[in-house]
Amino acid sequence: MDVSRIIKPWKLNSHRSLVFVNTTIIDPVEGKLIQDATVRISNGQITEVKTSDLATVSEDDSSSVIDLNGKYLCPGLIDCHVHIAVVPGEADLRAYKDMTERKSLLRQPHVLKTMLSRGFTSIRDCGGASLAVKEAVEEGVLPGPRLFMAGYALSQTGGHGDMRGRHEEQLCCGGSISGISRIVDGPAECYKYAREELRQGADFIKIMGGGGVASPTDRIEHVQFSDEEIKAIVTVARNAGTYVTSHSYTPQAIQQAINLGVRGIEHGNLIDLETATMMAEKGVFLTPTLIAHVMSKQMNFLPADGAAKNDEVLEKGLRAMKMAVDAGVTVCFGTDLLGPMHFAQSKEFSVRSKVLTPIQILRSATVNAARLLMQEERLGQVKEGFVADLLVLDRNPLEDITVLDRVEESILGVIKDGRVMTSRWEKLSVEA
Ligand SMILES: [Zn+2]
Repeated sequence: MDVSRIIKPWKLNSHRSLVFVNTTIIDPVEGKLIQDATVRISNGQITEVKTSDLATVSEDDSSSVIDLNGKYLCPGLIDCHVHIAVVPGEADLRAYKDMTERKSLLRQPHVLKTMLSRGFTSIRDCGGASLAVKEAVEEGVLPGPRLFMAGYALSQTGGHGDMRGRHEEQLCCGGSISGISRIVDGPAECYKYAREELRQGADFIKIMGGGGVASPTDRIEHVQFSDEEIKAIVTVARNAGTYVTSHSYTPQAIQQAINLGVRGIEHGNLIDLETATMMAEKGVFLTPTLIAHVMSKQMNFLPADGAAKNDEVLEKGLRAMKMAVDAGVTVCFGTDLLGPMHFAQSKEFSVRSKVLTPIQILRSATVNAARLLMQEERLGQVKEGFVADLLVLDRNPLEDITVLDRVEESILGVIKDGRVMTSRWEKLSVEA
């Protein structure tokens, strides 16, 4: 009797060993294809990658051999800016003020499962996700991408994370939760609540370092948090071996953050060349989230004041991303979709394709993202020793990146941790 299976009846079965033969590997590092390859996975790892003249599959091998007929094996995708807690179910942002955490939690399995089926095997949640959900995915209670989380984002009073309207007079005390954020003011609260987030399982710290689109009482051009406050948060993160990323749109907000040791910038739509150059020199990561602006507009998700702010940053965002890539900034894939807009996650590939090449975009969602997550030795490539997070693709994304946006026709299978989680092809069977 396996007692562990009685205690945790959802425990996943031990990994099958699979051998994919006659496949074409997509290498996002070199931007090339490796033809006629054999890829062996066991115990959730990629244990062997060979070209066909070297590969042998012996007859007594107990592994299941799957002939991919030349189809592509691509590293699993990584979305570096999501909010799984802002679940579908309401038409516009205002309604989310009344969304309780319980209601959100019951809907999060839907969000996670659909992200995985689109090929996202890892996600980075920039505010709102909880350790309980992360553990549920790891243990096999729910199917979903591997989750890296910030816990609650840290915001100042009246900052991007403060959801109170102008006419609400009720004060909120240090560390109280507002939507996906906590409100903290002064270095003492910054130290305390950055440490709280880490204690409660945050993998990194997210700060609201400037004004935002969806917040009711700030402006995009506002700089938020003082130097002392940001320094306090950066110190806490560094001492714990991790990093801070900042929601910042303007050159002023970005420069303040990166001069104080912040390692990542979210959105960055208003970047200028001077700021992009500084980011490249300091090795700061940029995660644009353009589809959020496109969809907010299309779906009328924001109230009027937010919609006006949205128009401004959408227009400049594409140009800023191109400028950052050209300046040598490591750009990562992000979406930032809230509420009813999650379905559009893969459309970020098509949006980016207006200004970037397929390999630039594929890197943003694989190797660049893995470096941001500090997982570059195990995620983002089809390589021996790496985690077996793989997509089976019918088309070549290095030729046309928008195939990743046409999920139903292009992504035949999603393998996470060596397990087939989604299949649209009879040769791949989803594991129970
Ligand atoms: Zn966000």
